[in-house]
Amino acid sequence: MDIIPDPRIQVLQPEWFFPYVQEVAMLRLDEVHPIVSGNKWFKLKRNITHAIQQGCETILTFGGGYSNHLVATAAAAKEFGLKSVGVVRGVYEQLTPTLVACQGFDMLIEFVSQDEYDRKDDETWLKQLTEKYEKVFVVPEGGANDWGREGAAEIAGFIPSGYTHVCVSVGTGTTLEGIRKALSTEVEVFGYVPMKGGTYLTDEISKHVPSNANWLLFDEWHFGGFGKRTDGLISFMNEFYSINHIPLDMVYTAKMMYGVQAQMKAGVFPPDASILCIHTGGLQGNSSIAERLVY
Ligand SMILES: *Cc1c(COP(=O)(O)O)cnc(C)c1O
Repeated sequence: MDIIPDPRIQVLQPEWFFPYVQEVAMLRLDEVHPIVSGNKWFKLKRNITHAIQQGCETILTFGGGYSNHLVATAAAAKEFGLKSVGVVRGVYEQLTPTLVACQGFDMLIEFVSQDEYDRKDDETWLKQLTEKYEKVFVVPEGGANDWGREGAAEIAGFIPSGYTHVCVSVGTGTTLEGIRKALSTEVEVFGYVPMKGGTYLTDEISKHVPSNANWLLFDEWHFGGFGKRTDGLISFMNEFYSINHIPLDMVYTAKMMYGVQAQMKAGVFPPDASILCIHTGGLQGNSSIAERLVY
């Protein structure tokens, strides 16, 4: 697969962070691959290697109609000669652009009700779901398993020493967990949850990284909830692009950067902070607001 092996770090323009902190930079994982972008490639790679080693032929995974994980899985599976099945919650009158893209990578989409979807970790239901397919390898929603965490830990290898804070968006928390485990605990890791009341994830994440290991979640910047946006958020994305020439995605990274800037202004970071924000990709999710973005 055409993966860029050494993602770059781009320093933001001083006008974006001056005079609050020393430096803010972004690790451009959005550039590693056009579809399997951001953190998704890292969470998938060991799952796929493992599936192939076990002689599996199909990857089955879960997501919503706008899931970056689903389309990344579809693209990566195809690239490695595997079939893929996407179990999608809810009913759609019309396929979303994300689901159309999944089908473009030959993913078979199976719709299930929210109730059924909620049972996605239930062994009996999983068995019923998978017995239709031969040699199937199940990847949990968001790639949230040990292989996902181990893959995400590789991201820490792109982070040079010297940063005081690393900021990352949180969906399942798998990426934060991998990075937190691999980075020196001197570095503070801040996680930004784009869901209302998202700090409930603290308990879940604490199963994988000790809660005293210098990490913290914030959920103030949800803008109405997961996948929701406001005019203010869209203006922020356009302004961020005009200053820094970095496109943000509306679901995760725009909300994170909005939060980082709000925290800078509120004095949450010390003036000598050197902050590295991880661009986890997800730009395909902007298609519904494409005409309102300057990029
Ligand atoms: C999936 C995704 C996340 C969340 O990653 P987790 O490992 O599930 O926490 C963050 N940012 C973007 C752009 C994503 O697509």
